Amino acid sequence: MKLTVGDLEAYSYCPWLQKDGDKPFIQRPYSHEAIKSICDVTTYIVGRQLESGRVPAWSVWANKWIRTYWKDRILEDKSNTALSDGCTLILTELYQMLTQVEATPAMVNFEFELRLNDNRDHVRSTIPLVHITKDEQVELTFLDSPYRENEFRRDLIVRLGVMAVTQAMPDNKISCIRGVSMDIPNFRTKIHTLYPNEAFIENCLSDIVGLVVSIKNDVRYANRLGCHKCEIGGKCKR
Ligand code: SF4
Repeated sequence: MKLTVGDLEAYSYCPWLQKDGDKPFIQRPYSHEAIKSICDVTTYIVGRQLESGRVPAWSVWANKWIRTYWKDRILEDKSNTALSDGCTLILTELYQMLTQVEATPAMVNFEFELRLNDNRDHVRSTIPLVHITKDEQVELTFLDSPYRENEFRRDLIVRLGVMAVTQAMPDNKISCIRGVSMDIPNFRTKIHTLYPNEAFIENCLSDIVGLVVSIKNDVRYANRLGCHKCEIGGKCKR
């Protein structure tokens, strides 16, 4: 069975979402597109770092931000300016974070297909940034992660990324996982750092395998607690 991380996220929110074949569905905050622009600028910058060997100066970030964010926006609209100000603050924190990372970037927007259950099932996802330390250990960085620590640890994107690296680079230990959470309306950024042990990695595998097996076996229940946020609510027959 071929799945994407979006399929797994939809199913784990409410199995009827996946079954009904709708696209993801949870209501997005108004700043969602702006957060996507921050992620695009950050991965572009690290791509430049891959070529030059150093983090580009802040002026490069600022120029790229203007070209990305203002491409389809009107300057006269004050809400656009307020949103841009909040995003710029978050970008400065990302700039500082990346200048302090001692590892070398190795991959940007690393797309992978995780193989499970004797290669019968495949799940596609992406890791925004992969760094390698001097002693060949791997550091993963996820952008737009959940704000709460416990949700970050359970995040499917993180868990799939850990499994993909374990599968693709079995000789390299994952020494650290970073997650950047962005709360633009409140001008807050939180950077989670997780040092995964073997128990965490085994837990990732059993979680993902369990989810894939449930999808294949068509195990379904309605998540009534999530209905108020679900965008297909009006069309749902459950
Ligand atoms: S409206 Fe509720 S039961 Fe229906 S798909 Fe959405 S979350 Fe599930």
